[in-house]
Amino acid sequence: MQLAERVSTITPSSTLAITAKAGELAAQGFDVIGLGAGQPDFNTPDFIIEAALKAVKAGHTKYTPTAGLPELKQAIIAKLKRDQGFDYTPSEIIVGNGAKHVLYLLFQALLNPGDEVIIPAPYWVSYPEQVKLAGGVPVSIATTQEQQFKITAADLEKAATSRTKALILNSPSNPTGMIYKKEDLVPIADFCLKHDILIISDEIYEKLIYNGHSFFSIAQLSDEVKEQTIIINGVSKSHAMTGWRIGYAAGNARLIQAMTNVASHSTSNPASVSQYAAIAAYNGPQESVEEMREAFEKRLNTVYTRLVTLPGVSCVKPQGAFYLFPNIQRASDACGFSDVSAWVAALLDEEKVAVVPGAGFGAPEHIRLSYATSLEKFEGALDRIEHFIKKHT
Ligand code: PLP
Repeated sequence: MQLAERVSTITPSSTLAITAKAGELAAQGFDVIGLGAGQPDFNTPDFIIEAALKAVKAGHTKYTPTAGLPELKQAIIAKLKRDQGFDYTPSEIIVGNGAKHVLYLLFQALLNPGDEVIIPAPYWVSYPEQVKLAGGVPVSIATTQEQQFKITAADLEKAATSRTKALILNSPSNPTGMIYKKEDLVPIADFCLKHDILIISDEIYEKLIYNGHSFFSIAQLSDEVKEQTIIINGVSKSHAMTGWRIGYAAGNARLIQAMTNVASHSTSNPASVSQYAAIAAYNGPQESVEEMREAFEKRLNTVYTRLVTLPGVSCVKPQGAFYLFPNIQRASDACGFSDVSAWVAALLDEEKVAVVPGAGFGAPEHIRLSYATSLEKFEGALDRIEHFIKKHT
């Protein structure tokens, strides 16, 4: 069978691949420590689960409007007002099956063949693949640890062409944990306004910010910038609800309508029960969000201090999300591996520690470690990594 050309360029998600391999080893009885996870290790808060159960029992098990229940749109509008002071209307909101699906709809609705999307690297693995699936061309901008992995307007100037349609900003970032400050964003927004480049602001880690850092959405700069921006967010990371699959976009009504049309012929609405759960998540008490944030912060501060003592490892301290993204090129070279991906494969094989190689994130000298796992497990993993490095050098 001849498959479609569009799938031939797609690489499978490296994060899901490593998680699957670790799962296989665990099923064979090995004591595997997985640091590949991109999801909170906490359960969804009880009151959200109760709201979902109540909705099912009340018979809310039918199709809903494609772009989401009016009550959920209102809860999202209220959240955006509460957190950033934004005013959005229901026609400017679409709810989808997770932020990943909403981004997929966005690229399908936005891109013509050959349209370019600027993606600062390191980037979340799905951005370039989704752009390619929509016929677009991902254009990445390399960044370094020294610049805290942040791009500037000068970088944009070099990367932009007449085909540039959009820029993706992900702050706090997966995988680096870096956060753009207001002053970083002003020149970027000016550039995008001047060249009519849509700003895609992926704010999924908005609630996971540590050690006194703060979140600022680029759309807060002015009404004009807000008009030029589409915000992507959802309940997966903030409310430990990855499996419920609820994410949303807020932006230009014409674009949201086009995304809704694509969804109406592909997925229809997100699961009705999950939408009721998300209404509770946004309208209910937010204490559990803060409790989870505090737990992540404590873990970060403990494991970071130890990580940077490992030979050949350097890492900027993340400010948000729940990942560490160290450069381990020197450790990999000292261990005699051809590249970091080979180092990662041997680590899983010999020490049964699963981390994600940086290549899929556009940063082949790095690895990603998720601290969405217990401190005890993470520290155990660091012991094994240290043993691995010492054994090979
Ligand atoms: N954006 C980023 C940067 C992510 O890391 C993820 C999940 O890992 C998503 C979007 C998608 O989240 P979801 O589809 O669970 O809402």
